[in-house]
Amino acid sequence: MRYFTLSVIVLFSSLAWAQPQEVFESWKTRHFEVRYKQGQTSRKEARVVGKKAEVFFRRLSSYLAHKPKNKIVISLEGNRGDDPKHRWAYVDDTAGWMHLFRFPEDSFPYQTGLSHELVHAYRFKHLSEIEMPPAPAFIFLEEGIAEYLSNLIEPNKATFVNFGHSLEVSAGQWFESGEDIPLETLLSEQYHLRPKCIPQAYTLQASFIQFLELEFGHATVRRLAFAKDIRDEETLQSYIGEPFSVLVSKWKSSLLRRYQAIPNHVALGQAWRNQTPVLDMYVCKAGVDF
Ligand SMILES: [Zn+2]
Repeated sequence: MRYFTLSVIVLFSSLAWAQPQEVFESWKTRHFEVRYKQGQTSRKEARVVGKKAEVFFRRLSSYLAHKPKNKIVISLEGNRGDDPKHRWAYVDDTAGWMHLFRFPEDSFPYQTGLSHELVHAYRFKHLSEIEMPPAPAFIFLEEGIAEYLSNLIEPNKATFVNFGHSLEVSAGQWFESGEDIPLETLLSEQYHLRPKCIPQAYTLQASFIQFLELEFGHATVRRLAFAKDIRDEETLQSYIGEPFSVLVSKWKSSLLRRYQAIPNHVALGQAWRNQTPVLDMYVCKAGVDF
C-alpha cells in the first residue's frame, strides 16, 4: 500500500460560467497512474484497476524480462458508448496512454482490454525511442502478441475475446464451419481485415503466437516482442528460421490437434460463438470480405 498516493488536478475552464468544471483525479501505484473524471468514475474503481494492473504488470515483466522506466497512464473514460468514437479500449500512439471503457460483461470495472492494452502500452514504452514501423507484418505480430500475452497474464479471461474460453476453443472452432481466414491473408491485409473481422483476427493471430511459443519456446516470443524491424514474411523468417508458409501449416495441425483433444470441443466452440458477445460481432466470409 505504500505505493499508493492520491492527487487531484482541477482543470478550470476559461469560460467557467459557461462550462461546468471537469475535475480529474489520479490514483498512482508503483507502475501506473490511473486517471479518471470525478463523477464519472469512483476512486474505488480506479483503485481496483490500479491493483489489477499491478498484478498483470508483475506477470508480464517476469515473462518479458524487461521493465518500462516510467509509469504507464491508464485513462478511465466511462461506459462504452458514452462516446461513440471510442467503442474499444486502445493505446493512443502519441502519448502511449491506455484508454479504457466499462463494458457490460466486465466482472470488475474497466476490465475489458485492460490486460491486452497493457501489453501494448508496456512494449510501446520500450519501443518509444524508435518509430513504429507501419508494416502489416509488424502489426500482425503486435496484435497477436498482445492478445496471447493477455491470456497468460489474465488466465481464464472473462472478457474479449475469450469470454471465459480457451484460445484452442475460440481459434479452433473456425475450422469446423470453414470460417477461418488464412493467416497469409490476415498478415498481408492486416489493416483492412483485422478491424473488420475482429473475432477471427484476434483469436487466430493470438493462436499463432501461442504455437510459436509451444514450438520454439518462450525466448523466441520474447525476442519477437521486442523486434523492431519485422516488415514482411522474409524478415519474420529471419527471426524464426522457417518460412511463414511452413509455420502456418505447422500451426494449423498443432491447433487442430489441441482443439480436437478437448472433450466436447464442438459444443464449447458453439457456446463461445453463440452464447457470448461474439454473437453480435461481424464474422468475415471468404469470397465476400477476402
Ligand atoms: Zn491491440
